[in-house]
Amino acid sequence: MAYDSSNVFAKILRGEIPNKTVYESEHTLAFYDIMPQAPIHVLVIPKGAYVDFADFSANAPNIEIIDFYRSCAKICTELKLTSSNGSKGGFRAITNSGAYGLQEVPHYHLHLLGGRVLGPLLCHHTTE
Ligand code: AMP
Repeated sequence: MAYDSSNVFAKILRGEIPNKTVYESEHTLAFYDIMPQAPIHVLVIPKGAYVDFADFSANAPNIEIIDFYRSCAKICTELKLTSSNGSKGGFRAITNSGAYGLQEVPHYHLHLLGGRVLGPLLCHHTTE
């Protein structure tokens, strides 16, 4: 799937629409989700143009991949999401891809969700 630069996260990166920034580095931006599904719901995106997890993992230069995941680690620490915070810690990192994954925005992003017990991994599912 070719990258479509009209997607909403590309617009955020170009400064065309606002965001509530949590963290920014040379290659990575993190901001609060506009429709939070948990008390803490942050989206982490690479600044480069990658459609989804597989595209980013296969095609991004090492420096961008390292920057992305080191940024995630810093955000988890700053927002007290890590399991070292004991019974009030822990989180879930989710990335949706394509039609089966119900991906809405075709720019790779990782959802970091926490602040409460998150329930089962998949709510509405069958094994078929
Ligand atoms: P996904 O279904 O994994 O593609 O998730 C896309 C996410 O982007 C959803 O959780 C939306 O609430 C979120 N979202 C869409 N537009 C914005 C925006 N302008 N600012 C922040 N989050 C957004």
